[in-house]
Amino acid sequence: MTDRLRGRRAVAQRLRRLRSEPLCRDCKAKGIITAATVPDHIVPLTQGGGDDDNNIRCLCADCHQVRTAEQFGYRRRIEVNADGWPCA
Ligand SMILES: [Zn+2]
Repeated sequence: MTDRLRGRRAVAQRLRRLRSEPLCRDCKAKGIITAATVPDHIVPLTQGGGDDDNNIRCLCADCHQVRTAEQFGYRRRIEVNADGWPCA
């Protein structure tokens, strides 16, 4: 499994990904234009997904929560900090 980048490099990577896909992919699929704020792993790292660009989709915070709930099989609202990462 790929190590997730941390600190300043992770921030730069996140900004680069949001710049390359500035609109939420799930909202766009529904015909809604929403600014993406979270680069999401399509296959979660915990399920063997890689931390590379072709495993990334950019989502808004709401869609990210829906996707995370789907991937991890629960619907509890997850608290995230300003960077979009879960607080826990
Ligand atoms: Zn969205």
